[in-house]
Amino acid sequence: MSSYPRLFEPLDLGFTTLRNRVVMGSMHTGLEDRAWDTNKLAAYFAERARGGVGLVITGGYAPNRTGWLLPFGAKLTTKAEAYRHRAITRAVHEAGGKIAIQILHAGRYSYMPGSVSASAIKAPINPFRPRSLSAKGVERTIDDYARCAALAKLAGYDGCEIMGGEGYFINQFLAPRTNKRTDDWGGTPAKRRRLAVEIVRRVRAAVGPEFIIVFRLSMAELVENGQTFEEIRTLARELEAAGVHILNTDIGWHEARVPTIVTSVPRAAFVEFTAEITRAVGIPVCASNRINMPEIAEEILTRGDAQLISLARPLLADPEWVNKAAMDRVDEINTCIACNQACLDHAFARKTVSCLLNPRAGHETELILSPTRRAKRIAVVGAGPAGLSAAVNLAERGHRVDLFEADDKIGGQFDIARRIPGKEEFDESLRYYTRMLEITGVTVRLGTRVGADELIAGGYDEVVLATGVKPRVPDIPGIDHPMVLSYAELVREGRPVGKRVAVIGAGGIGYDISEFLTVEGHPTLKPDEWKQEWGIDADDEQVRGQLAVPRPAPAAREVVLLQRKSTPFGKDLGKTTGWVHRAAVQAKGVEQLGGVNYERIDDHGLHISFGAAHERPQLIPVDNVIVCAGQESVRDLEQPLRAAGMDPHLIGGADLAAELDAKRAIDQGTRLAARL
Ligand code: FAD
Ligand code: NAP
Ligand code: SF4
Repeated sequence: MSSYPRLFEPLDLGFTTLRNRVVMGSMHTGLEDRAWDTNKLAAYFAERARGGVGLVITGGYAPNRTGWLLPFGAKLTTKAEAYRHRAITRAVHEAGGKIAIQILHAGRYSYMPGSVSASAIKAPINPFRPRSLSAKGVERTIDDYARCAALAKLAGYDGCEIMGGEGYFINQFLAPRTNKRTDDWGGTPAKRRRLAVEIVRRVRAAVGPEFIIVFRLSMAELVENGQTFEEIRTLARELEAAGVHILNTDIGWHEARVPTIVTSVPRAAFVEFTAEITRAVGIPVCASNRINMPEIAEEILTRGDAQLISLARPLLADPEWVNKAAMDRVDEINTCIACNQACLDHAFARKTVSCLLNPRAGHETELILSPTRRAKRIAVVGAGPAGLSAAVNLAERGHRVDLFEADDKIGGQFDIARRIPGKEEFDESLRYYTRMLEITGVTVRLGTRVGADELIAGGYDEVVLATGVKPRVPDIPGIDHPMVLSYAELVREGRPVGKRVAVIGAGGIGYDISEFLTVEGHPTLKPDEWKQEWGIDADDEQVRGQLAVPRPAPAAREVVLLQRKSTPFGKDLGKTTGWVHRAAVQAKGVEQLGGVNYERIDDHGLHISFGAAHERPQLIPVDNVIVCAGQESVRDLEQPLRAAGMDPHLIGGADLAAELDAKRAIDQGTRLAARL
C-alpha cells in the first residue's frame, strides 16, 4: 500500500470512476493551436496518462472564433476538428487515463481586435478593447459552449472543463469589475452569475448525464471590485444544482497584482479558499496552486479540504509523478520549482511550452532518450545544472559516467540560487539529482577539481565540459576593497554585511541578492505571513476581490540597486515572474539608480556619476558593495584537451556565459545526452 492512501483512492462519479485523485490541470502548450501538432499533443498527454494521472484536462479550446485567445488559436467548433481530437483521446485511453477538454472563451483577454466581454472595458494587460456582447450574442455564445461540449463528446472525451476563472469571459460576467450591464446578464449578483449557470445547464442538456462537467471556479479573484467570497460560494452551489460534477479551483485573474503560482508563493497557499467551497457543496472539489509533492496533496485530502488535487506544472517537470508517488519513490520526483521559465514564459512568448527541468515536455516525439547500443566511458566535468542533466541522462541511456565536481557538493550556481529567500524549492532539484546520480550509477567525484592531464590519461570516449561560470569582476578602481563581495561570497560563504549595501548589476541575480539582503534571517514564510505581505484577505467574506492592504515586513537593511544602462529596471526578468521581483524589492524600499558610472570604491563607499559626461558625481555611503555584474565562462580545460587531440563537448555556462540560465544549461545537457 502506498504512503498516500487518499491520493490513490478511486473517485466514483456514479457513471464513471477516476482511478485516483490526481487531475492534470489545464495548461495551454501552444500545440493545441496547430492542427499538424495533434500527434505531438497526443504523445504529450499519453506520457502523463501512462504516468498514472487520473484525469487529464487539456489546454483551452475556444467555443467560437470571438473566444480565441489568439487569432487562429485553438477552437472546437466543427465535426472535422472533433475527429482530429480522436488521436488525443485514444492515446490517453490506451494509457489507462481519462481526459476532459477545457472550453475557454478568452473574452477581453483575447489578443486580437473584435473581442467581446460583458462590458466594453479594456484589460490592463491587453491593448485590445472588447465590445460589450449583445443579449443575442450572449445567447449564441451559450449555445456555442453547448455545441463545443457535444463535439468534445463526439471526439471521445470523457468530459469537459468550463473555464470560469482567471478573469476570462465567464469571470468577466461574474465580477462587477468588468460587468456594468443593466440587462438580464448584469446589475445584481444573481444576474452576473446567470451566464455561468446557464452555460452549465445547456452544456449538461447537450451532453447528457454521463459526461463529466468540471467547472473551474475563481475562488479568490485578487483584483479590485472582484466578487465577494459570499458571492463565489453562492455560485458554487448554483453550479452544483445546474449539473456540475467537479469544481476545480482557480486563484487570481491574469491581471492580478498578487502572485499566485511563482516559486515564492508558499505551497498550497490558497487551499483555505478551496476548503470553504468544499464545505459549501456536495460534489467533489479539486485543490490547485503550488501543490507539487505527494505529502502536501495527501494532507489536503486527509483534512477534507478537497477531494481531488490538480497538478499542472508538476506534471511537465515529471510525467511519472503519480507512479513514483504510488510506488513510494518520492525522492525520484523531479519537483516543479515554480520558476515559470519554460512553461508560462514560453506560453506568453508564443513558444511551445516545456519545462526548465524536463526539456522533453512538449517535445516528446523529438527529444528521445533511448537506451544506447554502444556503452561509452564518458567524463562529465562540473555538477551544475548542465553537468547534472548530462550525467544522469547519459547514465540512464546506459553509458558509464564519471562526474567530477570541484566543490564538495553538487549544484554549481544553483546551490547559490536555492539559498535566496523564496527560492527554497530549488533544493528539491538538488535532492532529485542526488538521488538520480545514485540510481543511474554515475561515479561522482566531489571535491575534485579535475585537470586536463587526468582527463587525457583517463582514456574516455567522450569528455563533457560543464564547468560553468564564475562571477565577473568589473574593472572599477577599488574593486579589491575589503567591503566588496561577490554574490557567491555573500550567499554561499555567508559573509557578514553592514546595514547599508550597494548592489552592482540589476539582472536576475542583482534582484535576488537585493531580496536576500532585505529579508531578515531569510525565513521561509508561512502562508499567513505571506498573505499579509501581499495583501490577501481570506477572512472577510464581504470584501471584494479578497484583497487587503499589503503589510510587508520591514527591510533588514538599506539597499541601493544600480545599473549602467538607462532602460527600465528589471526589463529582462521573466515575463511572468519579473513583476513579482520588481514589486518585492519595491516593497522593501530598495532604491534603484540607473544610467550610472562606477567611479571608484573606497572607505567612504561607492562613488558614482551619471551619463556619458560623468555628471552629478555622488557618493553612496555604504558598508558593503555586492557585485552582481554577470559572469564569465570557465573554459580552462578546453584548449589542453584539444591540444591532446580530444574533442570535448561544451555545455551550459562553459559554452556561453551570456544569457545563461538553468533552462539552457539543462536543455543543452539533456540534448547532448540524447546524441552521444
Ligand atoms: P554552474 O552552475 O556554474 O556549474 C559549474 C560547475 O562546474 C560548478 O559546480 C564548478 O565547481 C564546477 N567546475 C568548474 N571547473 C571544474 C573542474 N575543473 N573540475 C570539477 N568541477 C569543476 N537560473 C535560472 O534559470 N533561474 C533562476 O531563477 C536562477 N536564479 C539564480 C539565482 C542566483 C543567486 C544565481 C547565482 C544563479 C541563478 N540562476 C538561475 C542561474 C543558474 O544557476 C545558472 O545559469 C546555472 O547554474 C548554470 O549551470 P552550469 O551547469 O552551466 O554552470
Ligand atoms: P545578467 O542578467 O546578464 O545581469 C548582469 C548585470 O550586470 C546587468 O544588470 C548589467 O547591467 C551588469 N553588468 C554587466 N557587465 C558589467 C560590468 N562590466 N560592470 C558593471 N556592471 C555590469 O546576469 P545575472 O544577473 O548575473 O544573471 C545570470 C543569469 O541567471 C541570467 O541569464 C538570468 O537569466 C539567470 N537568473 C535568472 C533568474 C530568474 O529569476 N529567472 C534569477 C537569477 C538569475 P549594466 O550593463 O546596465 O550595468
Ligand atoms: Fe515548473 Fe519551472 Fe518546469 Fe514550469 S518550467 S513546469 S515552473 S519547473
